[in-house]
Amino acid sequence: MQKLISVIVPTHNEGKNIFLIWNALIKVFENLAYELEVVFVNDGSTDNSQNVIENLALSDERVKFIEFSRNFGKEMATTAGLNSARGNAAILIDADLQHPVELIPEFIVKWEAGADTVIGVRKKNKGEGLVKKIGSYFFYKIMNHIGETKIIPRATDFRLINRKMINEFNNFSEHNRITRGILDWMGFKKDFVYFDAKERINGKASYSTYKLLKLSTSTFISHSLFPLKLAGKLGSIIILLSGPLGLFIFVERFILNDPFGFAFSGTAILAVIILFLVGIILVCLGLIALYIGNIQNEVYNRPMYIVRNRNKKSFSNEVFVDAVDNSACVVSLKNNNK
Ligand code: UDP
Ligand code: MG
Repeated sequence: MQKLISVIVPTHNEGKNIFLIWNALIKVFENLAYELEVVFVNDGSTDNSQNVIENLALSDERVKFIEFSRNFGKEMATTAGLNSARGNAAILIDADLQHPVELIPEFIVKWEAGADTVIGVRKKNKGEGLVKKIGSYFFYKIMNHIGETKIIPRATDFRLINRKMINEFNNFSEHNRITRGILDWMGFKKDFVYFDAKERINGKASYSTYKLLKLSTSTFISHSLFPLKLAGKLGSIIILLSGPLGLFIFVERFILNDPFGFAFSGTAILAVIILFLVGIILVCLGLIALYIGNIQNEVYNRPMYIVRNRNKKSFSNEVFVDAVDNSACVVSLKNNNK
């Protein structure tokens, strides 16, 4: 029996790309001694993506799909895909063909050679502007300094992970998540494949994951912790006004000896100082609101995603449980070695 590879494709408005990526995948797997399942996770697309996927699933039973009830973001889409993957290994790949499909054999070879995960790393992009270069340099510097996990610069979501990692990944329940962050955090044996990111052929890039996460966190906080956030904003305004004013009074009165003849009273000076301090306190409240927002996110324990629909035929219960169950997987691996 051949090993099964699950290719997980998060999909958000990729109507024109779905067929192309599917076609590219089956071409690559024609020459590989592995079974293929392609899991399209339709992350609340508003175009014809769902139709295209369903038609593909009708004609090719290797195609599975999960349709979200709305847009939950790429991280949730990859999470749902990994939760449902039945393969001995899973490969995460973007639908927009920016991740070169033809490198998949290389991923598999490195996995078979003993790596638990094979990570696609972008080579230096020639087209990148100076700002982006400096930005990403500092991003990695700072993140690697304050973060618990070291992140590999230019590591992408294009990666293969083995069954063990998939099972571990499925135990994570945090909501505010970045899939590759969790995978990096988990450790395991890593290997790398280097590639040049291609241009997007069809459609335009949706929100970048980071932006999306930031957006969702801030929307969430602004709904539930609006008063505290407002206090923070008010504090910033007070600081911005009282700071320069205080500085002006100080210079005018005590350094230049009141050349304009304002004769600021002691009370006025005190008022400005107090205002400034109040501003600082309010800004701190605003900061605390951000922290509370994060905690609240975790405590709420909402479902991470809501599946509206999935094709039952290919996700039949038995098989689905098999993949999640560790022992079942070991058995199937043993069978493979025969
Ligand atoms: N994507 C998704 N949900 C989103 C945004 C994007 O599932 O809310 C998918 C998208 O269809 C694509 C992948 O995530 O397959 C990467 O998205 P995109 O090309 O927009 O991001 P970038 O290439 O800029 O990282
Ligand atoms: Mg892209």
